[in-house]
Amino acid sequence: MTKTQPTHDIVKKHLKIGPYEVHAVPTGIFGLDGGSMFGTVPKVLWEKSNPPDEKNRIAMEARALLLKSKDRNILIDTGNGSDFIAKYGEKLGSKFAEMYAVDENGPNLISSLKAHGVNPEDVTDVILTHLHFDHAGGATKAENGKIVPTFPKAKYYLQRSNLETAKNPNVREKASYFQANFQPLLDAGVLQFLDGDAKNFISGISLIVSNGHTQGHQVVQIEDSEKQLFYCGDVIPTSSHIRSAWIMGYDLNPLEIIKEKGELLKLSQNKETYFYFEHDPYCDMASVEKINEDYKVKERFSLT
Ligand SMILES: [Zn+2]
Repeated sequence: MTKTQPTHDIVKKHLKIGPYEVHAVPTGIFGLDGGSMFGTVPKVLWEKSNPPDEKNRIAMEARALLLKSKDRNILIDTGNGSDFIAKYGEKLGSKFAEMYAVDENGPNLISSLKAHGVNPEDVTDVILTHLHFDHAGGATKAENGKIVPTFPKAKYYLQRSNLETAKNPNVREKASYFQANFQPLLDAGVLQFLDGDAKNFISGISLIVSNGHTQGHQVVQIEDSEKQLFYCGDVIPTSSHIRSAWIMGYDLNPLEIIKEKGELLKLSQNKETYFYFEHDPYCDMASVEKINEDYKVKERFSLT
């Protein structure tokens, strides 16, 4: 899957929050059904900004984030990953890349980290918003016939309730949770569990739990005294999803995600705020403005 030209202006921006240089880590374009991405929103409203292909798939990014300080390289989410046949088996693995139109020729998790001078062994911490494959697929890789953690020296952080749901997925989410993306982390003893919101669990970094998309999803907040960035994960997957009724068909609890999204957007009134989008194919993040009881995008940015 390839992406078309953006229909909005995108401003380049360098961002440092507290001790952290903030860098976007694109892990590869893939395709998802346009209808599923926009739930009940009619196609005529989203097809201009997100043109679908002949199979009705729209281009999606799987954009991780790197926080680089003097002594830490913190990665948030890991994209779809690679090694699909080794990880998911002959039958599912070969279908997988085709079904999701994963572009294996563009930048990937490892090459995008390298562009910022970071090798896999330099990553100190990996925060996983949740274990759906397009967020946690890159957390593990195939090596000598085994599936192992991709980042050998890192601690991985996850909500305990999300692991429980990944181990026993309901029928709607079964196709998104794969053992190969978390069992090797458990076996290696590198997973650290959190139970609920966590303020400053790493200096300047907090976690906000949301259950509307899936049980135990966590949004990551990076802040200093003047500004903040929210790594929204699947609570606000693209800049098109800022408006309250624009939610995904994938969300487990639609009314809950609308409420949680509203609470998140409300936090933008406190200080200079950026919402970072994991799946937006065009921009990395945006600022918002309040219009009546809803919010809309003010400015779109790409990080330098
Ligand atoms: Zn998800």
